[in-house]
Amino acid sequence: ADHYGVTSDYSIHVDSNNTIYSNEYIESKYMYEMNHCEVDHRAQRVEIVPRKYQYNFRTQRQVQRTGVMLVGWAGNNGSTFTGATIANREKITWMRKEGEQFPNYYGSLTQSTTIRIGSDNEGKEVHIPFNTILPMLHPNDIVIGGWDINSANLYEAMKRAYVFDYELQEKLKPKMAELKPLPSIYYPDFIAANQEDRADNLIPKGTKQQDLEHIRNDIRTFKKNNNLDKVIVLWTANTERYVDVRQGLNQTSDEILQSIAANEDEVSPSNIFACAAILEGCPYINGSPQNTLVPGIIELASKHSVFIGGDDFKSGQTKLKSVLADFLVSAGLKIESIVSYNHLGNNDGKNLSAPQQFRSKEISKSNVVDDMVGANHLLYNKKKNEHPDHVVVIKYVPFVKDSKRAMDEYISSIFMNGLNTIAIHNTCEDSLLASPLIIDLVILTELLTRITYKTHDSEQYQSFEPVLSILSYLLKAPVVPPGTPVINALFKQHRCITNILSACAGIAMDTDMLLEHKTN
Ligand code: NAD
Repeated sequence: ADHYGVTSDYSIHVDSNNTIYSNEYIESKYMYEMNHCEVDHRAQRVEIVPRKYQYNFRTQRQVQRTGVMLVGWAGNNGSTFTGATIANREKITWMRKEGEQFPNYYGSLTQSTTIRIGSDNEGKEVHIPFNTILPMLHPNDIVIGGWDINSANLYEAMKRAYVFDYELQEKLKPKMAELKPLPSIYYPDFIAANQEDRADNLIPKGTKQQDLEHIRNDIRTFKKNNNLDKVIVLWTANTERYVDVRQGLNQTSDEILQSIAANEDEVSPSNIFACAAILEGCPYINGSPQNTLVPGIIELASKHSVFIGGDDFKSGQTKLKSVLADFLVSAGLKIESIVSYNHLGNNDGKNLSAPQQFRSKEISKSNVVDDMVGANHLLYNKKKNEHPDHVVVIKYVPFVKDSKRAMDEYISSIFMNGLNTIAIHNTCEDSLLASPLIIDLVILTELLTRITYKTHDSEQYQSFEPVLSILSYLLKAPVVPPGTPVINALFKQHRCITNILSACAGIAMDTDMLLEHKTN
């Protein structure tokens, strides 16, 4: 056969004493090298002490039978993700004026990207599909379910989303029409008032404690009925307003559980879903910008050793921003102003036209250049807390439907105080950007539940931190373990995840030095 590249059907094998394969596990020894620095400002000297830490990683090889329960299943993302998965699984093709179309997983990190792992005898680079580096769940095998406050079945949901071509919708109809979201929790105070007419699929009115029990029971039933090893709960419902974070309400795990028991007003639907998932031992991922993951919920996840991740899918504008800002600042150019306009005409846009929900989005979009700016004190005076102006505008324009428009203007100071202005116009179906992220979040979270590690001073293998900052690449405002840095720069996030998985597989990570081609 001709060899045009390594496909997902290949298996990879590392020939080294540091990687051991058994039936159950892939075990790797990895030496983590980092620099400990002491900065003496008086002596104007930086002392660097290289340190080495031995890590042993252990990855369970057997992929778990996994289901995802989407909160907001009948939304644009929910229906697009579901329809795309079915189309890929069933190999459904469809016609449009350009000819026959085939389903794909473009835009998915795990399904459509490769990792360079080395070179062959001829010095040619070898790239492997991301999903071969360690055993991963295939998106076609994800069992999908979930809740929505709206009673539309998934066919109706897909139709009103205006995302897929007509013939694809019709071909998906028999499968999609059978899928019906479970009734959900609706506390009108948390999403925009303009959503009220959607709320026709609600669980019986009761206390918040009863709501929590109801959702926990839904998760158990879904798991049992589908014979699943693992369920991941993912919020892709409307953006909620922020909840207050205060003592007595949600600062500790006891407080949040007591607040639910006391039917406290300031507990949001997403708080209930997160607690329900955690109490059922299911990872919870927040694809929207609201501050669901309050300190009490983070503590609850920690106590139950359950993964949580968030916030807000990093899809279009922000992804580009976290590349462009990184590029400008890394090039020694000083970004002075970033102004981002969006208009969109889907239900998300409608919900975000209300001030409190817009505010949640504004916050999650606003901090995305902080780490890049903070990393260059030559351009930005730390003492003056210098920072570019950064403004985000979102408008609801029904006509454009899911086809979101994003316009960005970046102004930077350049050499000798010249100005450089870059303007970007982006048009794209919003849900076609977000849905591959749902796939990746599910696949990577499932994988991370199978990885444990130990260091030289620990006897037992343990899981990663419950707050999955490893997922930052996929999230706009990454939630990180308390006291640890937030990374927004896209390629740093990318290297973080590919390097960690490489370490777990026992593969030397790509340093991009290519010394073999630069030395004799
Ligand atoms: P959508 O409005 O089409 O879907 C949201 C769904 O959630 C609706 O069907 C609604 O009925 C349902 N819902 C609301 N409250 C609920 C509750 N309490 N329980 C269950 N269901 C509930 O929106 P979308 O375009 O699918 O986006 C979903 C979320 O993802 C939004 O918060 C959006 O801000 C976020 N997001 C989207 C993108 C993107 O590119 N599409 C990027 C980042 C974040």
